[in-house]
Amino acid sequence: MSWYEAPDVLVAHAHPDDETLSTGALLAHWVQAGASVHVLTATRGEQGEVVAGPLTPLEGTEDLHRHRVGELAGALGELGVTSSAILGEPPARAAGRAPRRYHDSGMRWVTPTVAGPADIDDPLAFTQADPDEATEDLLAWIGEVRPGLLVSYDAHGGYGHPDHVRMREVTLAASERSGIPMAEIVNDPDQPHDHWLDLDQQFASVVRALGHHASQLTVHGRDVVHVGGQREAIRTGVGLRLLTGPAS
Ligand SMILES: [Zn+2]
Repeated sequence: MSWYEAPDVLVAHAHPDDETLSTGALLAHWVQAGASVHVLTATRGEQGEVVAGPLTPLEGTEDLHRHRVGELAGALGELGVTSSAILGEPPARAAGRAPRRYHDSGMRWVTPTVAGPADIDDPLAFTQADPDEATEDLLAWIGEVRPGLLVSYDAHGGYGHPDHVRMREVTLAASERSGIPMAEIVNDPDQPHDHWLDLDQQFASVVRALGHHASQLTVHGRDVVHVGGQREAIRTGVGLRLLTGPAS
């Protein structure tokens, strides 16, 4: 079997909704193919705005963090993923260390489609944390679930969000330390990739999963509209590029 067909895999994301937006179809596909699929989320999306409506009062509150973790769980359920963790909390916390939080570091738009660091000062922000600490937390969960493949973003973090870039760096470091191969996510078929999966048969599952992320986005037909107004087509195609040696 090729390395991208039903691997036992740990997919590392930065915020609730990334798992569905960038890899929802892939996660559902792998689950249906019989793979053990584990999803890590680094933060609780603390900095994100809230879609105007009944959830608006949650913005900036601790309740929003809890709500977004619940949205994430709902989305993962639609995709069939039964194993998930938040970085800094067991099982994704290094042995002997008290649980900690890695906060959403926020972002600002540098161009209409490229994100850069936000002007916030939060010592708990994921990008302020020691990358080695985060790597050890990820390695703790890797040691428990023993995936055959790690998956995270490309060097640009998909679209530049500093938390995505950091999650990729941490996953790559964990790959190097564990010897488990890593593949990066390629969202544009014109970019170099080793394998492209067209998974439109997962469209309905992805839409149901997106429906759980109502504090962050809304679905309009085949598009998703983000809280900031950006509209993009719902993705069901995803490419993978292997970085660190072929998986068995
Ligand atoms: Zn994100």
